[in-house]
Amino acid sequence: MSLFSAPAGADPLGTAIKGVVRAASAGAPRSRQRTIGPSSAGHPCARRVGYELAGTEHVNASSDPWPAIVGTAVHAWLADAFAQHNRREGRDRWLVEQRVAVTPTMSGTADLFDTASGTVIDHKVLGADSLKSIKRDGPGQQYRTQIHLYGYGLARAGHDVRRVALACYPRSGFLDGLHVWSEDYDDALAADALARLAGVAELSRLLDPAALPAEPGAGCTWCPFWRPGGPADAAGCPGAATA
Ligand code: SF4
Repeated sequence: MSLFSAPAGADPLGTAIKGVVRAASAGAPRSRQRTIGPSSAGHPCARRVGYELAGTEHVNASSDPWPAIVGTAVHAWLADAFAQHNRREGRDRWLVEQRVAVTPTMSGTADLFDTASGTVIDHKVLGADSLKSIKRDGPGQQYRTQIHLYGYGLARAGHDVRRVALACYPRSGFLDGLHVWSEDYDDALAADALARLAGVAELSRLLDPAALPAEPGAGCTWCPFWRPGGPADAAGCPGAATA
């Protein structure tokens, strides 16, 4: 279907706008990422981590790109805001968008490091349910591992890392809805996560990702390897329905 044609009954302009947004999103660097980074390393589903390690092409085209687009735009705005604050104050309190080497083969970008408190901060732009869940239960394994891995990399680069934090902004609503979760930086937690990842990598060398233990759940529809309707194989996984 061309960008400017629309299914019967659909608004042609709306269809065209969505087509432009989807096309731009599909070409964004994050969408083409094929190596595992700190953000995926702690995912509780070993099968998903196995697909990432194998460099499997993303097959889930059904998830709506809008939350990621909003997240990327907010991250860019926040990076600028903290850099401006540094300039206004005449000092580099905030290290913004810091490139971090976690291991020789894994690197990422830490959103923010507060040199005043030794806190690594990751910005999360969340829908209402996710925000509610983090306020109630704290972050899950994936987010917690991610921020400690950034801490691990920054500590090895010589920074005095004392705390890790997630600054959780509501995707809709007001700044007053910001929720900050934090805890002491734990070097052992990061080292354990890297050891688990090495274990999954070892299994991935021997087995197809589909043979790795799966942890299906409500988040499967957001998994890049979610492919409903068939058995799990080297290209995709049916997730919660039939994994
Ligand atoms: S679809 Fe679900 S069960 Fe399958 S790999 Fe992804 S997260 Fe794991």
